[in-house]
Amino acid sequence: MSQDASILIIGAGQAGAMAAAELRKLGHGGRIVIAGGERHAPYERPPLSKSVLANGGQDGQIGVHPAGFYAGQDIELRLGTTVTALDPAHNVARCADGEAIHYAACLLATGGNARVLPPLPPGTPHVHYLRTLDDATRLRDAMQRAGEVVVIGGGFLGLETASTAAGLGLRVTLIESADRLLGRALPPELGTWLAQRVRAQGVELRLDCGIAAFVPQADGVQLRLADGTALHAPLVVVAIGLTPEVALGAAAGLALHPVNGGIQVDEHGRTSTAGIYAAGDCCSQYQPQFGGHVRLESWQSANEQARIAAAAMLGVQAEPAALPWFWTDQFGCNVQMLGAADPAIRYAWRGVSDSDAPSPRFMLLGTREGRLCHAIAINAGGDLRQLRALFGQTVEGLLPRLCDDALPLRLLVRDIQAQAASPTPL
Ligand SMILES: Cc1cc2nc3c(=O)[nH]c(=O)nc-3n(C[C@H](O)[C@H](O)[C@H](O)COP(=O)(O)OP(=O)(O)OC[C@H]3O[C@@H](n4cnc5c(N)ncnc54)[C@H](O)[C@@H]3O)c2cc1C
Repeated sequence: MSQDASILIIGAGQAGAMAAAELRKLGHGGRIVIAGGERHAPYERPPLSKSVLANGGQDGQIGVHPAGFYAGQDIELRLGTTVTALDPAHNVARCADGEAIHYAACLLATGGNARVLPPLPPGTPHVHYLRTLDDATRLRDAMQRAGEVVVIGGGFLGLETASTAAGLGLRVTLIESADRLLGRALPPELGTWLAQRVRAQGVELRLDCGIAAFVPQADGVQLRLADGTALHAPLVVVAIGLTPEVALGAAAGLALHPVNGGIQVDEHGRTSTAGIYAAGDCCSQYQPQFGGHVRLESWQSANEQARIAAAAMLGVQAEPAALPWFWTDQFGCNVQMLGAADPAIRYAWRGVSDSDAPSPRFMLLGTREGRLCHAIAINAGGDLRQLRALFGQTVEGLLPRLCDDALPLRLLVRDIQAQAASPTPL
């Protein structure tokens, strides 16, 4: 593609904003248009369930880039502009207001929508979903008026929302249909630890809890539980996952992943149609380290996929994707994860902590066939950074030392690397 070709980015979120910046960084001099359905300039979503809910986001700015960045980089930001159709045969996108935008290459960065619980569609009085800044503002207003909230869904978003609500002094009930928390992301022993901590922080956690019916009432919603009891909820937050926003791509004939539903892209972000790329929560990317396509919903993955897709659009070789990294803040714990969870991984603990300690600090080191492939740090992000150097290496015999939290990890990792470089016995 020539240096002055026109590039259209659909979706003014994390991936869209990062891809535009990367295109300029790589020297693209042509027109860049970002069309975004929301009326806000691209913003970071992680603060929505944390500082924005807690204090309106007064801790800091949540823009992906500073105000003035887009104009300064000559990036056309079209806010409140929903693209309704994509015609790959003629390289043109049509917007809801009738405008046609022509492009040489197009990036779909359309993210996703909160998964809807059919009996409680968006707009149901006293019921909230949380995906956008407007959602967060509405929920914050409602939380300030309510003394109590019921959160449905014990995933990361539900847990963060419950944690923030508890911090604001609301009485919180968290309902999860599975018998443990974060079953796919955390090993069972850590899920159990987290459940204890959630309860120790005053949240009523109901695991293995089915909901048979929802009865709207003037002052809230009555939840009829599968065990025959009922619960009155003056305020309900539904946090049961995300549905990737793929309607445009599907209508344009792009291949979707048969299982996770994301727009299927190769490791460079290329869809099944030449000239169209996808990045972020909407896409299912081939990742060699997973040996298949995965749809990741994380800030870092959106950034990485945007960086790689931007390079591919310009025909530039990009650095390979970094190891998946994810964080969440909840119940006094900054949890960071490096690598990807998988049931075959065996975990060893470095340090232990009571679930009701004020600021617990420990790590879980995950190995598969003796190699370090996953690590979870609770209030120990600095240690996690040290461990990065050992990822992919055989550490089986070193685990007793790595798990001894009396030994500083920084020095240990340095010794292990020195040992690998000149193999005399440690
Ligand atoms: C409340 C919350 C908390 C989170 N916390 C964390 C966290 O702690 N750690 C972490 O790693 N990740 C977290 N995430 C996830 C992370 O924010 C997302 O993975 C990331 O925002 C995905 O970026 P994206 O660009 O793919 O999608 P988005 O940021 O959702 O952007 C997509 C944009 O595309 C627009 N769009 C869609 N269709 C069209 C169309 N047809 N035309 C025009 N525009 C369109 C949408 O309106 C939206 O603005 C959190 C997410 C939420 C919602």
